[in-house]
Amino acid sequence: MENFRFDALKITLSRKSVKVDPPSDRVSDFFGEMTFGRKAMREFLSEDAYKMVISAIDQGMQIDRKIADQVASAMKSWATSKGAVHYTHWFHPLTGATAEKHDAFIDIITEDGRAIENFSGDQLVQQEPDASSFPSGGIRNTFEARGYTAWDPTSPAFIIDRTLCIPTIFVSYTGEALDYKTPLLKALNAVDRAAVDVCKYFDKDVKKVNATLGWEQEYFLVDAALYAARPDLVLTGRTVFGHASAKDQQLSDHYFGTIQERVMDFMKDFEYEAYRLGIPIKTRHNEVAPNQFECAPVYEEANLAVDHNQLLMHLLKRVARNHDFMVLLHEKPFAKVNGSGKHNNWSLQTDKGDNLLSPGKDKKSNLRFLTFMVNILKSIREYDGLLAASIMNSGNEHRLGGNEAPPAIISVFIGSQLSKTLDEIEKKGVVNAGNENGLNISIPKIPEILPDNTDRNRTSPFAFTGNKFEFRAVGSSATCSNPMIILNLMLVDQLKKFKKDVDELIGKKVRKNEAILKVVKRYIMESRDIRFEGNNYSEEWVKEAAKRGLSNVTSVPEALKAYLLPSTIQLFAENNVLSERELKARFNTYIENYTKQIQIESRVIGDLATNHILPVAIKYQNILIENARGLKEVLDNKTYVKLSRNQVTSIKKISEHISEIVTNVNLMKEERKLANRLEDAEEKAFAYRGKVLPYLEVIRRHVDKLELMVDDKLWPLPKYRELLFLR
Ligand code: ADP
Ligand code: MG
Repeated sequence: MENFRFDALKITLSRKSVKVDPPSDRVSDFFGEMTFGRKAMREFLSEDAYKMVISAIDQGMQIDRKIADQVASAMKSWATSKGAVHYTHWFHPLTGATAEKHDAFIDIITEDGRAIENFSGDQLVQQEPDASSFPSGGIRNTFEARGYTAWDPTSPAFIIDRTLCIPTIFVSYTGEALDYKTPLLKALNAVDRAAVDVCKYFDKDVKKVNATLGWEQEYFLVDAALYAARPDLVLTGRTVFGHASAKDQQLSDHYFGTIQERVMDFMKDFEYEAYRLGIPIKTRHNEVAPNQFECAPVYEEANLAVDHNQLLMHLLKRVARNHDFMVLLHEKPFAKVNGSGKHNNWSLQTDKGDNLLSPGKDKKSNLRFLTFMVNILKSIREYDGLLAASIMNSGNEHRLGGNEAPPAIISVFIGSQLSKTLDEIEKKGVVNAGNENGLNISIPKIPEILPDNTDRNRTSPFAFTGNKFEFRAVGSSATCSNPMIILNLMLVDQLKKFKKDVDELIGKKVRKNEAILKVVKRYIMESRDIRFEGNNYSEEWVKEAAKRGLSNVTSVPEALKAYLLPSTIQLFAENNVLSERELKARFNTYIENYTKQIQIESRVIGDLATNHILPVAIKYQNILIENARGLKEVLDNKTYVKLSRNQVTSIKKISEHISEIVTNVNLMKEERKLANRLEDAEEKAFAYRGKVLPYLEVIRRHVDKLELMVDDKLWPLPKYRELLFLR
């Protein structure tokens, strides 16, 4: 094996697309067949148990032990009938991935040597995985390493790899959250209550409000052989070197283009697996960068949608292997071409099926629409820095603000029609006393065509798209939990204030609708600065945003500090989502994770530069030197000087790059040592961001220059043109 790169390239030449045919052309024939959803429950549970579980799901009722035993037994029968032999609690630790520890159903071995499948209510409801190695941000010492997982009945159990997976929360021995699901469920519960309270102004019968989430998942595909020849992809998820390909996305010929056959077969395959798991994938297309793709489901209740996204990311990776692809979920796997995001489409829906962000057909529903719209604007005005923190990680740091993705400044785009409406309310007040029904109050009519008519501002990080908001700053590798927790929680705080403000006016004998409009009008004024309809990529906006006092933080450690603000601590604590201790633990986890990511990247870049790039650069340099020496032997001096000039220049340039690489790798190592000595996690993260990270760019620049100079045959790492264009 002279050169791993060429071995890998050779392998890609023989790739064939892999056909997987679903058993039927109708998705409904197999949709959800691997989930213990309502259909399976009705079949396997008694009438009583079924009703109990459904009310647990719909109304959050407790499930008692007897019923839990019944459910466990039914789940086991169902799972074994589908070929499952193991079960696991499936949870979302702060690594951002999902975790599982499989147990065989086989449990009791009888005296005559028979194994009996066993799975009780206890095992369903609660487990104690040995979980001491998950990040806890200091909440757990190893001596009290116990963590508990507890069943979340609102997300159906499912079977994957012949294993029954039971979605659970994950908490410490002392009851503190060690995962994403626990605070998510609490935040969703809080937004339910706060939104129902406000809905009651308009409709007394509303009993429940669900946050809805429809994510759009972007990803890259790379041939598995080429991936294996790129240690940086394997270890960091992104290419730390690589000169831009002569052609990449300039011609926009990939976006929405015809999907290549090998990719299409992969998509069909993972979609089939997704359908069986009840993930309602709806769209697929080629994205802007070459080899970049996207899929999106029909939206669902937020907790379920989060689980489905986590599961889908897992599926993408797993199914890709069968097609000799590797999936890259990193936010910026390739420099100079677009990175990947995960737009979070978000709205609120009542138990009567009304979308609270759908402009209504009559005045009453229009006022309700305006109420929720304006409260969202106000909540983002209050907590823009926190919302930005919710999407920050080391990958997204490379992506944000690159004139391809939303900038780090959070602003809201609502479109010209709605802007006009809000401006009108602000100017005219549009309040008159009205009659008993309040129907005389002149609420500007919001045209029904609005949903199809919102102008598409693609540069805004947070855009109203007709009947939902699209939060575009979320990174492709991230769990949607964090943005969903924070977005909903921010709104809870705002809706509570709104209710208080309106009730105060009503207490002063102001009529209800008039009171609502008065508060709405005030909020429109107070949240005006968060609205921006222009180009978010422009220099002017950066200046304007600074004038408006909006947060603009591009550094992860700096952005994460929003978690420690007194207003954040109060927001989380007051609504019982996370205590101060839990929140600080989370901050520690995120900031340590950031440090480790940069540390790994820095080590990988040092190793690759020193052990992969320098040897070939020197080898090639020697070839040039040999050649020059030979020329000198055969040519007279004058001719030699004339003809060797360019070669000597090349030799010098290569030497310079080699020298710069060695120098900078050493300097980077020194900075790393200094940073590693820092005790304080925050200081360490800042040191990695400020002192170590810049070297990654410097070293890369020299390596990428060498890539263009050194003999292609010697170059050890697959190049961008090879990675980005599938065969
Ligand atoms: P576009 O692709 O133009 O952004 P779509 O209408 O295709 O718009 O929707 C994109 C995403 O928005 C999909 O994932 C969809 O499920 C989601 N979505 C649509 N309506 C809602 C809603 N009410 N709540 C949450 N997500 C929604
Ligand atoms: Mg979209």
